[in-house]
Amino acid sequence: MKIKVIGCFGAMINGYHLSCFLVNNNILLDAGASMFLDYEDQIAIDHILITHSHLDHTVGIPFLVDTVFSRKENQIKIYGLFECLKALKDNLFSEYIWPDFTSIPISAPKLGFIPIQHLDSFFINGIKITPLRINHIVPTVAYFLEEGDKQFLYVGDMHHTDSLWEEVNKRAKDLRGVIIETSFPNKLDWLAKSSGHLTPSQLELEIKKLKEPVPIYVFHMKPMFIEELVEEIYSIKYPERIKILNQEDILEF
Ligand SMILES: [Zn+2]
Ligand SMILES: [Zn+2]
Repeated sequence: MKIKVIGCFGAMINGYHLSCFLVNNNILLDAGASMFLDYEDQIAIDHILITHSHLDHTVGIPFLVDTVFSRKENQIKIYGLFECLKALKDNLFSEYIWPDFTSIPISAPKLGFIPIQHLDSFFINGIKITPLRINHIVPTVAYFLEEGDKQFLYVGDMHHTDSLWEEVNKRAKDLRGVIIETSFPNKLDWLAKSSGHLTPSQLELEIKKLKEPVPIYVFHMKPMFIEELVEEIYSIKYPERIKILNQEDILEF
C-alpha cells in the first residue's frame, strides 16, 4: 500500500493544502485538496473515502467531478456515513452550490454515493476497509485499512475516543502506522474540545491507548500555529514514534 500526502493541514493558506491522501493511484482518503492533483491523476480517481462532511475534507469533490467529467468513463464512488452523504447531497450538490452530479447524466451519473456503516467492512481493489466511528462534532469515522497482512489506520478529525483504540487493539496484527490529527496548540485546549479536535497534549493521551508502539503520522495542524504546534508535538512522550506529515510525503507499507 502506498499513501501519498496531497494535503495535510487544517486550514488553507498559500502552500498549505487541506486533508487529502492518495492511496495507490485511484483511491482518495478525504478530498480537501484533490484539485492539486495533475489532470491525469484526477481522471484516475475511482473511489473517495470521506471521514465526515466538513468542507475541509470534501471541497475537492465538486471540482474533481466537474474537471474529469468529459474524460471519465466509470462512476466516481463516494463512501461515507449516511448522515455525511445526506449533508453533501442536500448542501454541496444542492444545485445552488453545485450541480447534482449524482444524477448527471441521468442515464449514467458520474458520481455515486455509497453509504457505509461502523464496523461494516468492504473491499476496494483487494484492500479491506473498516469504518470505525469516532468522536467529532458531526458523524465521523476513521478508516482501518488492511492489504494482505499489513494494516494501517487513518484518523481524520477527532476528539477523545476510547472505543476507537479498543477496536484497533483488538484487530491489530501487523499495524504499520497511524495517521492522526492534531489541530490546535495546547493553549487552545478549550477550542479543541469545543470543536472536536486534538491538541498535542490530547494526542499524547490518545497514543497511550494504543498498545502497538507503531509510528504516528500527525497532520491537520492549523498553519497559523505551525511553529508552536511542531514544538509541542515533538515534546510529547513518544518523540521517536512521531512524524509530522508534509505535502508530497509518501508512506509505503
Ligand atoms: Zn471536521
Ligand atoms: Zn478537518
